Amino acid sequence: MTKMTPLIERNEQFARTYTPVPLGPPATQVLIVTCLDHRVDPAIILGLRLGDAVVVRNAGGRVTEAVIDDIAYLAFLAGQLFGGQVAADGLFEVAVVHHTQCGTGFLADPGFLRQAAEATGLPEAVLEASAVVDPHTTVKADVERLLTSPLLSPKVSVSGHVYDIDTGRVTTILDARHP
Ligand SMILES: [Zn+2]
Repeated sequence: MTKMTPLIERNEQFARTYTPVPLGPPATQVLIVTCLDHRVDPAIILGLRLGDAVVVRNAGGRVTEAVIDDIAYLAFLAGQLFGGQVAADGLFEVAVVHHTQCGTGFLADPGFLRQAAEATGLPEAVLEASAVVDPHTTVKADVERLLTSPLLSPKVSVSGHVYDIDTGRVTTILDARHP
């Protein structure tokens, strides 16, 4: 028995009626970057099904170097594999979704930040860079960061959104733009 046991049982239910999705571009042509918070599951809040969208998650849903690297590789892969099926408006749209009540917000407090750095061994700068205090501000900064990255394919567009934990609503802050 592990804590996974009941989830494996749920998987058994899932597998009973499962139909494999063939490798192809995501049906919605969207790649979502969002927080790993368990209250912010894109499949549930955006009604995604298997094969609908690529999802990249980290603390805060921040556009880090690692996220930029993943997007650069996926754009290359999509171009190689599905170049012929790609729509005139590009490969895919990256939707950056930050949320209210983010647990990374505590890192804005210098005392908390210092404690977190000491306890985890992570540099303060790395922890501080993940902090989302005001999602409206950070989502704009991260869309800008991605749009100005030399690694971003011109065939990828970027949009910014905020998910409100209280209402369950996603609001678009920045419409999709190409670099
Ligand atoms: Zn969060």
